Amino acid sequence: MQKNKILKVDEGEILDIEIEEDLLKANKELASVNRKTFDLNNIKSVNVMGAIGSGKTSIIQWLIKELKNKYKIAVIAGDVTTGIDAERIKEAGAESIQINTGRGCHLDALMIRKAIKKLNLKEINLLFIENVGNLICPADFPLGTHLNMVVVSVTEGPYMIIKHPFIIKEADIVVINKIDLADQMEVNVNKLVKDVGRINSSAKVVTTSVKEGIGLNGLIEALKL
Ligand code: MG
Ligand code: ZN
Repeated sequence: MQKNKILKVDEGEILDIEIEEDLLKANKELASVNRKTFDLNNIKSVNVMGAIGSGKTSIIQWLIKELKNKYKIAVIAGDVTTGIDAERIKEAGAESIQINTGRGCHLDALMIRKAIKKLNLKEINLLFIENVGNLICPADFPLGTHLNMVVVSVTEGPYMIIKHPFIIKEADIVVINKIDLADQMEVNVNKLVKDVGRINSSAKVVTTSVKEGIGLNGLIEALKL
């Protein structure tokens, strides 16, 4: 059998790498400014990352419904063009701010800086930030949140975790969602859980089905809420 030809891109060969390094450094500095703002105002913040359709918004809606009597919740929802998620969040009963990133495929710390200026920080104590649906570059742009949560769905297939090691490494919590569809998708949930452990042994893994109402308590526990 013929061996596959592989083109490996070395870091130095990526165009504009120097610009990017400056950018990442500036982002990190702004992220720590954001963190200070959260801490000063006693706001617990969670960066929710995951592919389009993994269930980020549904999980946030679910948490809002469960926690809105205990916390004053706001959501910053990133999306390339639509406001669908921000509307869904408002319906669930939380204040929401929408960031349309246009061609941008991730949120960055500056966008969050600007968005939190629009929030009445004294009025909230829990903030979810729904990142743009993408599992690649949000890993490089910390936002200053206390927790990073990555949502994957069994509908994304059996290799979802091992193909995205960088974002899994950044995660404090990994949610494996839509487990009610695992058999149909021929995906082994236990294997996905083990894949996470191999990449990031300190990440907490929670398996959920929003549709069937499975795993919410475990998620609330993992978020320490
Ligand atoms: Mg969404
Ligand atoms: Zn991006």
